Amino acid sequence: MAENRDYYEVMGVPKNASEDEIKKAYRNLAKKYHPDLHPGDKNAEEKFKELNEAYEVLSNKDKRARYDQFGRAGVDPNFGGGAAGGDPFGGMGGIDDIFDTFFGGASPFGGFGGRRANPNAPRRGSDVEATLVVEFEEAAKGCRKTITYEKVDECPSCHGSGAKAGTSASTCPDCGGTGQVRVTQNTFMGVVQTTRTCDRCHGTGKIINTPCPNCRGTGHVRKHKQVEVNVPAGIDNQQILNVSGQGNAGTNGGPAGDLHLIISVRPHPLFERRGNDIWCDMPITFMQAALGGEVIVPTLDGKVSYQVREGTQPGDIFKLKGKGVAKLNGRGCGDQYVRMVLEVPKNLTQKQKELLEQFEKSTSEKNYQKRKGFFEKLKQKFGE
Ligand SMILES: [Zn+2]
Ligand SMILES: [Zn+2]
Repeated sequence: MAENRDYYEVMGVPKNASEDEIKKAYRNLAKKYHPDLHPGDKNAEEKFKELNEAYEVLSNKDKRARYDQFGRAGVDPNFGGGAAGGDPFGGMGGIDDIFDTFFGGASPFGGFGGRRANPNAPRRGSDVEATLVVEFEEAAKGCRKTITYEKVDECPSCHGSGAKAGTSASTCPDCGGTGQVRVTQNTFMGVVQTTRTCDRCHGTGKIINTPCPNCRGTGHVRKHKQVEVNVPAGIDNQQILNVSGQGNAGTNGGPAGDLHLIISVRPHPLFERRGNDIWCDMPITFMQAALGGEVIVPTLDGKVSYQVREGTQPGDIFKLKGKGVAKLNGRGCGDQYVRMVLEVPKNLTQKQKELLEQFEKSTSEKNYQKRKGFFEKLKQKFGE
């Protein structure tokens, strides 16, 4: 400690600074003077040493109180046989804690920036999303589809190495292929070794002397890819089909990601899907409803004949068992529900109107049970 500057002066804080202010000041100055940021700079190293010493005292309530009272003699056992005694590194735990917070868990002696994932470790490629449009029937019955999409692939020229064909990447001479370099520093604690990411190879441990012209040394290219997929019977709108291994290429030999196909089912002009069931409206005439008769109902398997029973009412629903959508788990199919929609005839001729009037005159309460019931309830509730 050549100068023995005042600790408050070192940290740039007033004598009455709060704990927070001291912490903050330390944080800023530690970042400024950290030896990893100034390799070989004796002045910065000295400043960092001085800063740590000041912080060790000012961040500790007891030591700060003794320092305020006695100056350095109160806290430094080497400074004229002071009052405190004890281990000069007693406060180091505190500093470690601070570094945990500031530098992502790195010890101040483990290198600035802390533990980094090995850049050469195999990494899985990312997933790719694409939309696959299918017809209503294709979703219900399943189909085979070819889809074209864009993804990142391994460069075919260099097979992902990034080095031009016929050449290969050489081991980085600065770090000997480890991607990390050791820096030896003299600090107030003595000589310490720190490691940091190699500047020359950015931690890959390899130097590409002649980059592959096809991928400019990245090892990856974007390309259009075609893949054939089996769309399972029963898939529904907005469901995602995972096609494993067809996503973006991995790095360092890691596996490719997956392709996520978002299914978009085109609406059907006649059918509406509810889960595994299919619903459809069946328009019938007044006469078909009254007398019954055969109607042709569309299903996923084609048209089927259905016998409408006599006296069918509007909104009546009948079920065609097993004519719905296949269940994704393969266990059977849903059903088809057909709703009777009675169409009242319009644009009647004079003759038709007369016939209907004639028919109406022939009817009685017996023909209109519902109407009869309605008027009975009306009478009960409101009188004649
Ligand atoms: Zn290439
Ligand atoms: Zn290197």
